[in-house]
Amino acid sequence: MPTTVKEGSLEAPKRESIDWRDPAFHNREAVDAELERVFDVCHTCRRCVSLCAAFPTLFDLIDESETMEVDGVAKADYANVVDHCFLCDLCAETKCPYLPPHEFRVDFPHLMLRAKAARFKERKPRWRDRLITSTVPVFRTLATPGIRQLANGGARNKALRSIGERVAGIHKNAPIPAFPPRTPRPSESTHTAPAHGGEAPIAGSATTGKVAVFVTCYGEYNEPDAVDDLLRVLRHNHIEVKLLASAACCGMPKLELGDLETVAANKDANLPVFLEAVEDGYDIMAIVPSCTLMYRQEMPLLFPQDEQVARIRRAFFDPFEYLMSRHRDGLANVDFEQPLGKVAYHAACHQRVQAIGRRTQEFLSLVPDTEVTLVERCSGHDGTYAVKAETYEDAMKIARPVVRAVRNAAPAAYGSDCPMAGRMIEHGLADGSRATHPISMLRQAYGL
Ligand code: SF4
Ligand code: SF4
Repeated sequence: MPTTVKEGSLEAPKRESIDWRDPAFHNREAVDAELERVFDVCHTCRRCVSLCAAFPTLFDLIDESETMEVDGVAKADYANVVDHCFLCDLCAETKCPYLPPHEFRVDFPHLMLRAKAARFKERKPRWRDRLITSTVPVFRTLATPGIRQLANGGARNKALRSIGERVAGIHKNAPIPAFPPRTPRPSESTHTAPAHGGEAPIAGSATTGKVAVFVTCYGEYNEPDAVDDLLRVLRHNHIEVKLLASAACCGMPKLELGDLETVAANKDANLPVFLEAVEDGYDIMAIVPSCTLMYRQEMPLLFPQDEQVARIRRAFFDPFEYLMSRHRDGLANVDFEQPLGKVAYHAACHQRVQAIGRRTQEFLSLVPDTEVTLVERCSGHDGTYAVKAETYEDAMKIARPVVRAVRNAAPAAYGSDCPMAGRMIEHGLADGSRATHPISMLRQAYGL
């Protein structure tokens, strides 16, 4: 009897583990065959067309081919689709009805990751891509006194930016991170601090009341004030805090490059640091959703047999998920001193796909006389996508509806869980305003 293929299922969709140590994972013929198979499913579905430039690129290739089917697209052109995927995960997590256990077994972002990883094995990426994904050495160098002033000045110098575009492939108008002066850096600050008032930590139903903060490359070098605000907000909420000074990069930039061996090295460097904190009773938290996603989803799928990775996944929290959990347990501080007024809040893709709900919006809405307008679309920053000369214009196109929504909200403050997305919105607005991380808004509301 023929089987009927149905959309939907009573079983929950799930992301499958990534068998990247299997030699077939990187085999070009196998990768192209799987790309062809999945592209064909997407061709007949097309519901992700508005999410990013990867799908329009694919559909244009198909529609402009001789057969108007996937078999009419040259395999060499598959890379054009792959290059437009920045692994935001939105297609898989918010749109696709064909994730396993559906028999079509479509996991578009992880197939893009496989294609990136295969290409990484075949040939060395260009030096620009290796450089901009090497966040710790590059950021550390650029944040050095003396060099920092040159880096910040160079970022604003039109002539230098034009040279940078020609020589390095960094778009001359791209928003590139600033390196604020900061001594000591967050990771060099006092490493452990009790809750305000010195109370002993009180555990909630899902939280220990002790948080080890993974500072992250971006928090350390570009947004140290947001890390500082997180620490103050947590302590004000009767939470003991500790900084994970010796943690390495989360691995997300190298994941986007397809460099899975370096992702594994990042994991090996971070696990002992995270585990020590967890064994001391700390939960873990980061100010950047992408870094949290690495340990809540990507590492567990890349290393499904690793018990330590699973343990870290269970201990990792989004800041507002944590605060809302404490609020439900009656343990959060909701004694606010200042209203925030109209706030435009952008929910970052890498936070949305963690399936934790709208916790940032909920917690900010607890502040009296505060009206939060939610913006739930991709900001277009997407790691290195908005920085590269060849994709900057696409990134700006993706950002446009978000920028318009923020402008139309006429907010007193705007920002995103993702500090980079906040800077992208700021760049799109181009009106001299500055994005504020939601945790910094909360600090203001507390009057800290
Ligand atoms: S993961 Fe994001 S960028 Fe990649 S194809 Fe899906 S929606 Fe587009
Ligand atoms: S990823 Fe899934 S939902 Fe999106 S176009 Fe492809 S098949 Fe359709």
